Amino acid sequence: MNILTGDKMTDKIYLNDSYCKEFIATVLSCEMTEKGYEIILDKTAFFPEGGGQAADCGTIEGIAVTDVQEKNGVVVHTTDTEIPVGKEVNCAIDWELRFSRMQSHSGEHILSGVAHSLFDCTNVGFHMSESLMTVDLDKALSADDISKIELLSNQAIYKNLEIKAIYPTKEELETLRFRSKIELSNDARIVVIGDVDACACCAPHVDRTGEIGIIKIVNAYSYKHGTRIEMLAGINALSDYVALNSANKELMGLLSAARFNVNEAVAKQNEQLIALKSQNAQMSKRLALSELETVNIGDSVYAISKNINYDELRHCANFLQEQGAKTCVLLSEAEEGYIYVVASVMRDVREIVKELNQKFSGKGGGKPDYAQGKLSGGCEEELKKIVEELL
Ligand SMILES: [Zn+2]
Repeated sequence: MNILTGDKMTDKIYLNDSYCKEFIATVLSCEMTEKGYEIILDKTAFFPEGGGQAADCGTIEGIAVTDVQEKNGVVVHTTDTEIPVGKEVNCAIDWELRFSRMQSHSGEHILSGVAHSLFDCTNVGFHMSESLMTVDLDKALSADDISKIELLSNQAIYKNLEIKAIYPTKEELETLRFRSKIELSNDARIVVIGDVDACACCAPHVDRTGEIGIIKIVNAYSYKHGTRIEMLAGINALSDYVALNSANKELMGLLSAARFNVNEAVAKQNEQLIALKSQNAQMSKRLALSELETVNIGDSVYAISKNINYDELRHCANFLQEQGAKTCVLLSEAEEGYIYVVASVMRDVREIVKELNQKFSGKGGGKPDYAQGKLSGGCEEELKKIVEELL
């Protein structure tokens, strides 16, 4: 008997019984590989990774199953411990995780089916994780379209429709209307959800749509000429709601806002913050100006100060020019040196800046009428002397 060429196929319980949580099986083979021990059973309820759904987790004889893959029609379970061939083993799948994936996957089928019947959309990409599912539809959809899809998907849940897997013959397949991304072989498995959807799929689903509870679209945006929908279903959607509600509650407390007024309260605070920032900038400029001890040399002015930033120095230079100063050289002590602003209405300030940079290991430049930069050397006395010479 050659297991891997399919002489003896594993009985895949999950295909016809999505609700099998525990089962007893016999180990047909156990081989050590780089990944761990690869175990083949005579039957399994472990769903192998496929159709956008991750592999089931669980245990075989209490040993954790770290991966499940289908190879040549056979389901291969990976563990980190050897299990003897021929042994009868108790197996259990992580039901909580599996059920949430069934809710999610069935929810995704409903949404894709609704999008197909409402807007003739084709699902061209599907990704599923515990935190989010993404569904890529091939048509651009408006916010109203998205809302319609969400509402009708949830109405399909309220109707508690039957979900079943059917195996049509080749002839039946030709007349059957269903969604499928792949060319189907003879043993096609079609998952039918009431009159809402029919789609080729290898994964386990819930028995009735009511078990999904809720389908929530959390985001939708343009993606490759179509629309990417981010969605949640079942317990994952509930967990998301619980987390969002708790975050909202915290914000309500912080902002003293009612349940649906948090956004308004934040917008109002933002406005206040912008006004305060601008007020603060004005005040710090005024303060800088009042602290600046200027020295006049003819029509020109210079000052060496502390704790004044570029914006404030520029503001001071503008003010001094408005008062009639032709050239302003303003410096302020900074970390390891000085920052400077040079402005003039009568000469090219780049000559002054060049000299300053050369003498005090500086960097910076600008236009003929305005330049700014940083000096990394020099002391106040030296600077005064040079600036007076340059003016
Ligand atoms: Zn599917």
